[in-house]
Amino acid sequence: MSSMKSFHIITFGCQMNEHDSERITGILEGQGCISTPDPVNADMIILNTCSIREKAEQKFYSELGRLRKLKDVNPGLKIAVAGCIAQQEGAGILSRAPYVDIVFGPSDIARLSNTVERKSGSSPFIDTAGDPEYHRKRIPTSRVDKVKAWVSIMYGCDNFCTYCVVPYLRGRERSRPHENILQEIKELAQKGYKEITLLGQNVNSYGKGLGRDVDFPALLRMVNEISGIERVRFVTSHPRDLSDDLIAAMRELPKVCEALHLPIQSGSDRILSSMNRKYSQKDYLEIVKKLRRSVPDISLTTDIIVGFPGENEEDFEITLNLLEEVQFDSIFAFKYSKRPGTSALKLANHIREQVKEARLTQVLAVQKTITLEKNKTYVGTKQEILIDGFSKRGGKMSGRTRSNKVVNVEASADLIGSVSDVTIISAGVNSLTGMICA
Ligand code: SAM
Ligand code: SF4
Repeated sequence: MSSMKSFHIITFGCQMNEHDSERITGILEGQGCISTPDPVNADMIILNTCSIREKAEQKFYSELGRLRKLKDVNPGLKIAVAGCIAQQEGAGILSRAPYVDIVFGPSDIARLSNTVERKSGSSPFIDTAGDPEYHRKRIPTSRVDKVKAWVSIMYGCDNFCTYCVVPYLRGRERSRPHENILQEIKELAQKGYKEITLLGQNVNSYGKGLGRDVDFPALLRMVNEISGIERVRFVTSHPRDLSDDLIAAMRELPKVCEALHLPIQSGSDRILSSMNRKYSQKDYLEIVKKLRRSVPDISLTTDIIVGFPGENEEDFEITLNLLEEVQFDSIFAFKYSKRPGTSALKLANHIREQVKEARLTQVLAVQKTITLEKNKTYVGTKQEILIDGFSKRGGKMSGRTRSNKVVNVEASADLIGSVSDVTIISAGVNSLTGMICA
């Protein structure tokens, strides 16, 4: 393959992008290239981009500016742009950054070795056509983690929430055939992986359009049977599609962890409707009630957008009250960000940046107290943790409870990949501290 011997990837954005970078690495390593941690020595630098919010886009363009300087000293360096901004801008990236050599979209990864091969001479190569068979392909994957693995079960999204670019950039919803998913997980189990996270923008609608009799709860039941895998998680669930059957599967299946990320976005029905979320606050609370009744120790997390167009003080208060009422374990909160091509752009009453900023600060402050209180309820309890690496706090190991809380423990590095019982001795906002039970 071409003269390229080494490459370096910089990843922006969500787990899906992290996982796409593992695939890009898998393909290039399969062609004999070496991934290098040092951009200065790389023959090619790939920026795997995110455009979910404007801030992510700004980060990408400033990184691209830095790379231009590297190219000035090393004119042989190739710069490739992948991911959502590549899909969004296509050849448009070149008008802002003519020194970019390759642009390829998220559904064009399988063709990457061809793309790199075909890029010759000085003219850039753009591949954002999308591959209609991408979801049926097995893509070589070079995984960063040795204990936990992401497995895509579907691509794209059909929901068209009015603020979101995903359906335009990642395409319509396509589910992978379940045989391919199960085969991939069996191979991961054979390699010693213990935890699987099933990935999709809306995993609850898995199977739609496949013409097969396997929906998401059925898929979970099959994954639960794979020996060697000890824990199964999944992201993301859309409240509208969260069925009673899925709740039953979560209760019944021993490997499916007691944790659910269920984005609500806003507490106000007026705003939810304007976001095209297709559920009300009452519907959401009903689901939470059912989940807690069926899976008593379930930890719940959510996404909140503040400052959506038209969100007034009353709507915002409703969201704050909802946080108090539900008592999420933690939340991800974002200021609404205008995205090209989305219908929310045309809504009236866009909110001033200052107001968004103030609401974000307030939401995070309210949740911080709730998260800490929730975490404190773990103190004195015995938890099963899967030890997955070194703690960010020097000298310790780190693992996660089934409810997905980070626990730091004094333990030997030999325990990475093993499940241990610990007693929780203290709790902070971001993590717990535990002691391995004798
Ligand atoms: N598919 C998932 C869902 O529906 O919940 C997650 C999609 S997105 C990658 C993750 C989160 O980003 C969303 O839940 C939403 O809170 C946030 N988000 C998406 N578009 C946004 C925008 N234009 N401005 C601010 N936040 C946004
Ligand atoms: Fe975006 Fe909504 Fe689809 Fe999530 S469900 S990816 S927020 S359009």
